[in-house]
Amino acid sequence: MLTGKTALVTGSTSGIGLGIAKALARQGARIVLNGFGDAAGPQAEVAALGVEVGYHGADMSKPAEIEAMMAYAAGRFGRVDILVNNAGIQHVAKVEDFPPERWDAILAINLSSAFHTTRLALPAMKAANWGRIINVASVHGLVASAEKSAYVAAKHGIVGLTKVTALETATTGVTCNAICPGWVLTPLVQKQVDAKAAANGWSNEEATRRLLGEKEPSMQFTTPEELGELAVFFCSAAGNNVRGACWNMDGGWAAQ
Ligand code: NAD
Repeated sequence: MLTGKTALVTGSTSGIGLGIAKALARQGARIVLNGFGDAAGPQAEVAALGVEVGYHGADMSKPAEIEAMMAYAAGRFGRVDILVNNAGIQHVAKVEDFPPERWDAILAINLSSAFHTTRLALPAMKAANWGRIINVASVHGLVASAEKSAYVAAKHGIVGLTKVTALETATTGVTCNAICPGWVLTPLVQKQVDAKAAANGWSNEEATRRLLGEKEPSMQFTTPEELGELAVFFCSAAGNNVRGACWNMDGGWAAQ
């Protein structure tokens, strides 16, 4: 379905980004990976699906590096047809204790990076009259939780950016939508489980059960594979007129 298309997924050396990259690769898309840590393993996982794969290690908090990554993708594969803005970090603290440099980093990586990739990707998408921009927001783009001020502000911000981008492309073949996951058991969330276990003397299982029980009625994690299939839907012909949707996959979290 996506043979001949190129998908760039930010923050795709791990977790949700890698899951989405693999789901798009299974549909035949060439993939550009990005993110920190081991890049060879994720590249091999994607290549094993039979598609071409590139990698750029741009730091999403640095606009000049984002520009270099977009130039790399265009230079190697012609243009980016599918842009998935996924890179993100978390920090948990009350507003008055929140380190200002963590606030700045979260806003830069979780929100501003998507503005930069989007502004750089749009001209070629519009010229081709086809494109998909998928922003990985969060249920925290729709509702708040205490002690996550920067994350909730950034995720509400990316929901806003999604809607504006969708309006500005509404008469074109380019669409922009957001995915809003609840809990997904990735390294980002395992850190929060570990912190809960350590603070309360709970086992990993007990901390996991309490984390889910606080917010997620299904008591189940959403998986990167499930989120990948939603991204595939947005890229399909059936998604041609899905514009500005902020689709939660959250086990009922936002329904409460
Ligand atoms: P993760 O920690 O497994 O992966 C994050 C990815 O981003 C990694 O590849 C990492 O290398 C990369 N990254 C981090 N900082 C970067 C930077 N400065 N520049 C480039 N890459 C960088 O986390 P995840 O849970 O897969 O999160 C992915 C996205 O999903 C984030 O935007 C997160 O907010 C969102 N999300 C996660 C959950 C969840 O429960 N895990 C829920 C809702 C939304």
